[in-house]
Amino acid sequence: QRSLWKKLKSEPSISADGKHFTIGANIGTPDDVRAVQDNGGEAVGLMRSEFLYMDSSDLPTEEEQFQAYKEVVTNMNGKQVVIRTMDIGGDKHLDYLPLPEEMNPFLGYRAIRISLDKQDIFRTQLRALIRASEFGKLAIMFPMIATVNEFKQAKGIFEEEKSKLIEQGVPVSTNIEVGMMMEIPAAALIADKLAKYVDFFSIGTNDLIQYTFAADRGNERVSYLYQPYNPSLLKLIKNTIDASHKEGKWTGMCGEMAGDQTAVPILIGLGLDEFSMSATSMLQTRALMHDLSSEECKKLASSALEAESNEEVIHLVNDFQKQNK
Ligand code: PEP
Ligand code: MG
Repeated sequence: QRSLWKKLKSEPSISADGKHFTIGANIGTPDDVRAVQDNGGEAVGLMRSEFLYMDSSDLPTEEEQFQAYKEVVTNMNGKQVVIRTMDIGGDKHLDYLPLPEEMNPFLGYRAIRISLDKQDIFRTQLRALIRASEFGKLAIMFPMIATVNEFKQAKGIFEEEKSKLIEQGVPVSTNIEVGMMMEIPAAALIADKLAKYVDFFSIGTNDLIQYTFAADRGNERVSYLYQPYNPSLLKLIKNTIDASHKEGKWTGMCGEMAGDQTAVPILIGLGLDEFSMSATSMLQTRALMHDLSSEECKKLASSALEAESNEEVIHLVNDFQKQNK
């Protein structure tokens, strides 16, 4: 089967009835790009930039970050690279940046909340990103956006740094897309408002599931509540995708769910535009996509939204797969 998948390396990601999608990869470091290319990736849908911070003994400088981002966009040869700004906090710590002890780190000071507070760190990262945009197709997204105001603030700081660089005569791309992770239910519920300001959404299901079910993503005792197919979650996903399309924007997914073979038919049916996953899952997902009719997937998604449980949706997908064999 693997050799069959390999044949799909330079094939488009297209459904049986001709609808096009983008399959991309999640990466941590510039070295990961090789695996993306080897497995026929059409994009980097998520670069977790915090790895640069975690692999360093002090805050990475603007120059160090610039080199890393430039390497990624250059090696992707003009394919889109979505780089997420630092997502520290929660379970990710930096020895050189001690954060206050908190009762609930996943509900506390993390990601964009830190960036908006410690703006010197955020501005340094944004300058590095904006400078690297000149070497390929770079997009930026902010993690853990909960409100319109947070996005506006972050975008405003991005605009300020971009203007300063342009004034200084630094070459930068004029069309850097700026989007946000959709991983907090409050944001997914007002996706229509957010869609007016963003260029795209990328759904982070690892956190979106954790926050929707109020169940710590790393706690075994509550892992039965990790329910990606539950209609509650599907509704948040649908709301996000529909809102983006109404504004002529696109929605991707970079949580584990994007490469989950049970979820893919539903996500196609909901109209997801981009699927970003571990590089090794991309070809298998493309193969699955080739066998699916997007129109049939739409019907499946409608039934899934009407179901009452995670298990019921799994049954629906299993029956659907049997009929389509
Ligand atoms: C997510 O939350 O789904 C996501 C992709 O981000 P991370 O796993 O890095 O929190
Ligand atoms: Mg997340």
